[in-house]
Amino acid sequence: MKENVNNQARRKVAAKEGKITYRGYMCSSCGGLDRYVSNNNCVCCAKKHAKAYDKRQRELVKELRERIAPKNKKAS
Ligand SMILES: [Zn+2]
Repeated sequence: MKENVNNQARRKVAAKEGKITYRGYMCSSCGGLDRYVSNNNCVCCAKKHAKAYDKRQRELVKELRERIAPKNKKAS
């Protein structure tokens, strides 16, 4: 596919220039054009996933903390 060849060429140029992201082909899920040179993932989606992951981890930590040290009312 010609589109793909152009994409790879742009990616190579970006890599040579030491850039982290490049303008690649359109993301199928969010329509974004910026992609990481390193793994070809959509920047927008990666951020969304990172945010969701972060939220999950936070909730997990909170849950574990409460399980280990429940908020006891101090006995007076
Ligand atoms: Zn995306």
